[in-house]
Amino acid sequence: MKYHEMNPEEIREKIQTDFKRGLTEEEVSRRRKQFGYNELQDGEKQSALLLFFSQFKDFMVIVLLVATLISGLLGEYIDAIAIMAIVLLNGVLGFYQERRAEKSLDALKKLSAPTASVLRDGEWIKIPSKEIVPGDIVRFSSGDRIGADLRIVEANSLEIEESALTGESVPSSKDTDIIHGENVGIGDMSNMAFMGTMVTRGSGIGVVIGTGMQTAMGQIADMLQTAETLQTPLQRRLEQLGKILIVVALVLTLLVVVIGIMQGHDIYTMFLSGVSLAVAAIPEGLPAIVTIALSLGVQRMIKKNSIVRKLPAVETLGCASVICSDKTGTMTQNKMTVTHLWANNEVWNVSGQGYEPIGEFLKSKRKMDPTKDVHFNKLLSFAMLCNHAEICKKGDYKLDGDPTEGALLVAGMKAGFSRDKLLKEYKIIQEFPFDSARKMMTIIVQDKKGDRYAITKGAPDILINLSESVFANGRQQYLNQQWKSQLQHAVESLAEQALRTIAISYKKLNTKTKFSHESEVEKDLTFIGLQGMIDPPRPEVYDAIKECREAGIKTVMITGDHVITAKAIGKELGLINSNSLVLDGAALDTMSVDELEEIVDDVSVFARVSPEHKLKIVKALQNNGHIVAMTGDGVNDAPAIKAADIGIAMGITGTDVAKESSSLILLDDNFATIKAAIQEGRNIYENIRKFIRYLLASNVGEILVMLFAMILAMPLPLVPIQILWVNLVTDGLPAMALGLDKPESDVMKRPPRNPKEGVFARGLGWKVISRGFLIGIATLIAFVIVYTNNPDDLAYAQTVAFSTLVLAQLIHVFDCRSEHSIFARNPFGNTYLVWAVISSVILLLIVIYYPPLATVFHTVPIEPRDWLLIIAMASIPTFLLVGSLFIKKK
Ligand code: ATP
Repeated sequence: MKYHEMNPEEIREKIQTDFKRGLTEEEVSRRRKQFGYNELQDGEKQSALLLFFSQFKDFMVIVLLVATLISGLLGEYIDAIAIMAIVLLNGVLGFYQERRAEKSLDALKKLSAPTASVLRDGEWIKIPSKEIVPGDIVRFSSGDRIGADLRIVEANSLEIEESALTGESVPSSKDTDIIHGENVGIGDMSNMAFMGTMVTRGSGIGVVIGTGMQTAMGQIADMLQTAETLQTPLQRRLEQLGKILIVVALVLTLLVVVIGIMQGHDIYTMFLSGVSLAVAAIPEGLPAIVTIALSLGVQRMIKKNSIVRKLPAVETLGCASVICSDKTGTMTQNKMTVTHLWANNEVWNVSGQGYEPIGEFLKSKRKMDPTKDVHFNKLLSFAMLCNHAEICKKGDYKLDGDPTEGALLVAGMKAGFSRDKLLKEYKIIQEFPFDSARKMMTIIVQDKKGDRYAITKGAPDILINLSESVFANGRQQYLNQQWKSQLQHAVESLAEQALRTIAISYKKLNTKTKFSHESEVEKDLTFIGLQGMIDPPRPEVYDAIKECREAGIKTVMITGDHVITAKAIGKELGLINSNSLVLDGAALDTMSVDELEEIVDDVSVFARVSPEHKLKIVKALQNNGHIVAMTGDGVNDAPAIKAADIGIAMGITGTDVAKESSSLILLDDNFATIKAAIQEGRNIYENIRKFIRYLLASNVGEILVMLFAMILAMPLPLVPIQILWVNLVTDGLPAMALGLDKPESDVMKRPPRNPKEGVFARGLGWKVISRGFLIGIATLIAFVIVYTNNPDDLAYAQTVAFSTLVLAQLIHVFDCRSEHSIFARNPFGNTYLVWAVISSVILLLIVIYYPPLATVFHTVPIEPRDWLLIIAMASIPTFLLVGSLFIKKK
């Protein structure tokens, strides 16, 4: 017999589990040994060895290796070995950088791995889906991705989208009924849920009957796509730029070689110099360093509670011009406490804070007992029944579940009610779960007499419209216009105090059949009353909004809450003032995207919106040229999250579907974290610009010094091995240290970056060329001065040129730290850079003064007086232009 044909008892027998307590930990580890982890087998990874060898597949590197081999065969052993060693070292560096980048990307993937809620040893716990074993009892609800193959044993309005398996994108409804018959296809197994499919509605519980490769998903081999690695726009642009730079470098090198030969230089030397120059000048390290800078930034972001799921988001973050954020939990603390009750035309206050169920009920400061008042009794007890939250005492009182429901539960507990006792009086027969489009939830209960009731709780303005009577003076009264405006007035007066309001209503049912759709029950209700709860703003949000404003980023609050509540909180957070325009869902419904476009720039608060409206808002903002960051948590938020330039999902309250559509996950659901991520995004981009500037200026300098020398019919200012050394040292540590630089103090004072801006925007091209040109000229001048003084000692002049070039680059690197000038910030503020430069200088001195290496690098010891010349010349490229800036300012 197959699982879909069995009843729960048969399943329990077959799979050996306990529906009430789940598996024990020992049983779990036994089954894990037997069945392995719940994973689909992944595609082969590139092996470390392959990655290492791929470092040498560059055309110019191969030419260099062949050339060295030839020079080795011709008897130039030392040169050949040294060049090989440097090429190898370069390869190791590249390998290390790529490996590191890959590792950190892997670590990221792990962090955003899906989780599942399972019953183990009698308790519901959250585990990585990978750890599910057959026999586990799994709980899931709207927005979850199913982690293994399950036989459903409990279902509430459950719908699952199975297109990953069946291709059918319309969700199928699911229940627990046994299915008979031969050859039942996956699409018809309405009592099963399969790995990789997505819960779009309702909730349920299932027993795991297959994991890993033993699932329907595991059997479809071609589904095992390896995750794509996305390139960021900058990486793409750099790749294109890289191609251009290769051509430019090759042309210039060729020019050096040809002119050199024409000026009478030896062909063989010119060839080796040319190849070395080409290897040095082609910025092959650029993509790897960019990836490292990105992934290091991403790691810094994790420390600040945001996980980047798609690398391109790091860059886009720096361009964000609007943040659309949910209110509840993101801008507010989501720590709700009921403070006001309204029933029977009376307002009561509730004292106490947080989830501790201790507090008093007061009517105009007079103590009241809600259990003795039939209206408040119903208001509190029904809100407890129509509720999934749990409060447990672990040290202090902790909430498990939705904070809104937790607050209702605590209010009831303060009155002395207990959910367990209520459940003995009222058995829950059916449930229509909450969703943010309907903004309500309903349960059907049966009391001891066998009478059935529907209890609905939800947004008051919606429940008022669905009610036909109101429970007052101990009886149901017709909800006439006068009552309606009284209710509306009550709602508004709570909302004006920034309270989140929930209404409770009920009705007696005269049927015992199950309802197939919520709309059959959620009508003709009797309104009982309101509970108003506070949800204080997060203290850090106010400043975060202000900082965003200074950074040219607009903050928009989007909430499902009542317009008046939203306005009150918007004002508290400094988003709007009393005259600001606040749009609600109803208004959005009447507008086209074009119409919304006209006014959207003036709106900072949207209230009573459904997730569907978010998409419209994103589109309208994008049409106005904005780069939009949008937060969300539910299934219905997914389209807007996907459409936004930066889709942000909540780490705590977010569903799997929202997380999968997002490019950024907030681990703490906090608005201030978005601001921190944007700041980091801007910083990462600036750091990348810094080392592009440094690397390219260095390369321009290297090529030009050789080119000018050849044009002026001079001897070679650098020998091949020196060129390679310069390239290794400067491409290595200092460039990486720039990637770790702290942001400049004004990164959040500048307007957002234009996403279309090219690599060389904002004067970067000019800086590269001018500094590179000066580095080349200064090196040449140092060379010429020393060489004309003593034309017999070419090696000495070459050592001076070599040192000048290295020092010029090492001084210039400090200038690259600022968009403004080297003195705009403390030049030694980046300790990594200081150490990178110090170690590069020490390496330079070793290469010059340690005789065995001096032989290899063709250097000779430099006299102290010439160091003065070297330092002076090396300072020119950086300080000449700073000086000119200074003069201009004066
Ligand atoms: P956000 O500000 O993040 O959009 P929100 O909590 O304001 O979130 P929803 O969760 O969609 O938005 O809630 C909308 C309305 O639905 C709330 O104002 C409240 O009246 C009602 N509501 C919220 N949670 C529940 C619930 N668990 N049961 C019944 N009604 C609820």
